Amino acid sequence: MSPRNVIIIGSGPAGLTAAVYTARANLAPLVIEGEPSSTSDQPGGQLMLTTDVENYPGFPEGVLGPDLMMRFRDQAERFGAEYLTAKVTAIDFSARPFTVWVGDDQHQADAIIVSTGAQSLMLGLEAESRLIGHGLSTCATCDGFFFRGQEIGVVGGGDSALEEALFLTKFASKVTILHRRDSLRASKIMQERAFANERIEFLWDSVVTDLLGEESLTGVEVENVQTGVRSTLPVSGLFVAIGHRPNTDLFKGVLDMEDNGYLITQAGSTATNVEGVFASGDVQDHTYRQAITAAGSGCMAAIDVERWLEATRHH
Ligand code: NAP
Repeated sequence: MSPRNVIIIGSGPAGLTAAVYTARANLAPLVIEGEPSSTSDQPGGQLMLTTDVENYPGFPEGVLGPDLMMRFRDQAERFGAEYLTAKVTAIDFSARPFTVWVGDDQHQADAIIVSTGAQSLMLGLEAESRLIGHGLSTCATCDGFFFRGQEIGVVGGGDSALEEALFLTKFASKVTILHRRDSLRASKIMQERAFANERIEFLWDSVVTDLLGEESLTGVEVENVQTGVRSTLPVSGLFVAIGHRPNTDLFKGVLDMEDNGYLITQAGSTATNVEGVFASGDVQDHTYRQAITAAGSGCMAAIDVERWLEATRHH
């Protein structure tokens, strides 16, 4: 089979915007969109784990994250984008056309757009897999509603943790922020809001060492890192907001990345260190991480691919 013009890996706002643009440029992109069963590689990306999106321009009444991604997907399909609902298992970017494997199936393309996004970091406790979705969550906007009138905890000391905690005070009777140090990393304005909110309490120098409950969360075991003293915090919900990790394991040793795993793109461009391979969205952005900025960089990647294909094919 002759190689495609372009394969897009990932189907969040970045990948699907790249799909809209490359499809409209008659490049017939193949989007390898991820696997629905997975929490980190789900088609549609992190917006599939959210509810209301109120800051995506063009939707003054707000839009549900999954609905927004379905609209992106339909829009690209209308112009000829094709989808493969699967996870990429291996890549070979050492020669052109580039090769991408999905299990034993091989796909080839002259250009690649990597938009594999990022995922929430977890605490690494054994009980997490048992209790995720049963009291343990990484998404306050998705799950906050279920904790009306209850006491819950939020882990982390950055903007995400405070944003989640502030949001959760709409539902919970009390929100305890558990932070491993005695000062916050979050911005001053978020700190002021959190300190001013009477439903928010802080547990400083504290780490969660275990999650309690079989069927659903009944409490967390907390250790004070200064004194070593352990105690139980009786919460029915725990929201983990300790940052994100880019989905770049596939590209280790091939694409240049920062120490924290985020892909490095050239300034003012989406080009990676491998000519013909471009990166867009959260996989190369740990600063903004918004649907709209991801979409914007997906558009940039599509235009970069179009120009690069044009230039290489005319020489
Ligand atoms: P972050 O700034 O990296 O903060 C992560 C927090 O989690 C830190 O306080 C860190 O503690 C703690 N942490 C990390 N690993 C931990 C572990 N294993 N156990 C316990 N605690 C752990 O991440 P973020 O809050 O997700 O924010 C990421 C970026 O997005 C930031 O630039 C942020 O400003 C931005 N953001 C902005 C907004 C907003 O403006 N509204 C909202 C969300 C995010 P230490 O402090 O001790 O390292």
